[in-house]
Amino acid sequence: MSKKITGKYICKDCNKEFEWQYIIPNKISDSIYKVHKLSENVVGIRVLETDENKFPIAAIAYCPECGFPNQLNSDDLKEFNN
Ligand SMILES: [Zn+2]
Repeated sequence: MSKKITGKYICKDCNKEFEWQYIIPNKISDSIYKVHKLSENVVGIRVLETDENKFPIAAIAYCPECGFPNQLNSDDLKEFNN
């Protein structure tokens, strides 16, 4: 099973709050063969860097309102780890 993390972020550009979601692949092959569908109004994040457990520590989340690329750091991402 893959692990899903979600969180909320307020866009730095337009101040609108949006929800983001990221699915940590269990194995590298999982990400190739499985297509995960995100919920509506939830944006996927582009992970730039992960730790040794494949947990994202730096990512970009594009605002669904204005398209601004918000940079999420490890604090933004860890807060919602569950
Ligand atoms: Zn925005």
